[in-house]
Amino acid sequence: MPTAPDPTRAAPPPGPSPSGRQVRDPDLPALMRSLPIDPRRRLPIPAVTAHHPNGDLDFTTVDGATALRLASEGRCTICGKPFHGPVAFLGGVGAAVVGVYFDPPMHPVISTPGL
Ligand SMILES: [Zn+2]
Repeated sequence: MPTAPDPTRAAPPPGPSPSGRQVRDPDLPALMRSLPIDPRRRLPIPAVTAHHPNGDLDFTTVDGATALRLASEGRCTICGKPFHGPVAFLGGVGAAVVGVYFDPPMHPVISTPGL
């Protein structure tokens, strides 16, 4: 079961992350700028990011319960804000043909930076 991150962990020093991306990157979509920041990677934490029991983030795993809840509420699974227009699903041609996607719905403007 996902848990909250450990707030006692030390934040990294200011400056670029190992990937070179800055916290609160102005190139991020506005909808993502209010997301919490992973102190280790200095990247926004999508709403559906799974947490290990020790509080570590798992950016490779979608928290299925949170994704289902947000989607059923008509909210973006990245920023958690309501949809007021088109919804994006990420996937290839095969996913589009059958209409089945592994990633949950998100705002179209948010889907682009992650590609
Ligand atoms: Zn969003």
